[in-house]
Amino acid sequence: MKEEKAVVVFSGGQDSTTCLFWALKEFKEVHTVTFDYGQRHSEEIECAREIADELGVSFHVLDMSLINQLSANALTRSDIEVKDGEEGELPSTFVAGRNHLFLSFAAVYAREMGARHLITGVCETDFSGYPDCRDVFIKSLNVTLNLAMDEQFVIHTPLMWLNKEQTWELADQLDALSYIQEKTLTCYHGIRGDGCGECPSCILRRNGFDAYLRRKEVQA
Ligand SMILES: [Zn+2]
Repeated sequence: MKEEKAVVVFSGGQDSTTCLFWALKEFKEVHTVTFDYGQRHSEEIECAREIADELGVSFHVLDMSLINQLSANALTRSDIEVKDGEEGELPSTFVAGRNHLFLSFAAVYAREMGARHLITGVCETDFSGYPDCRDVFIKSLNVTLNLAMDEQFVIHTPLMWLNKEQTWELADQLDALSYIQEKTLTCYHGIRGDGCGECPSCILRRNGFDAYLRRKEVQA
């Protein structure tokens, strides 16, 4: 893969930034694509742009605001509170089919760039009810995209079977632990680095980070 081009689906968050570092190690030429779907915090796109600039990869924003015409959810509508789903319910951040749409658009973009490798930070381990984050869906979409465009795409999902603790471990192996800790934006309230410390996303991130550091200390 060292001689080939890749496109990373990139949001400036912990997961996709870890994927970006992974891609930079695995591929000769790396591009990023970011989706603007009216996120509560355009800070997210600014953050992604800065990281792409710093790491020397191209940055392309696709306007996906049309997904707001399809469903109302907490990431794009400021009048809906961010909360975890009750048991058996999806979280309020859910946009049905979002990953499906984003990956499909990313594949068209990759084809234009002459790249057949697509990298996405989806993960089945912390599965919070998003069916289009599952491995079986990604494999199915890979076949569909190849048939749709008569191409030989390969969708890579380096985080698919990792929990948050292991994602931090991967960041460390890629010599990017402190970079990702300080520069990325995962917080639902738009605060970079360690974030607000209170939203579900910050808590998941912090717990994983602490668990990884504890394990590293024990092993040292
Ligand atoms: Zn937060």
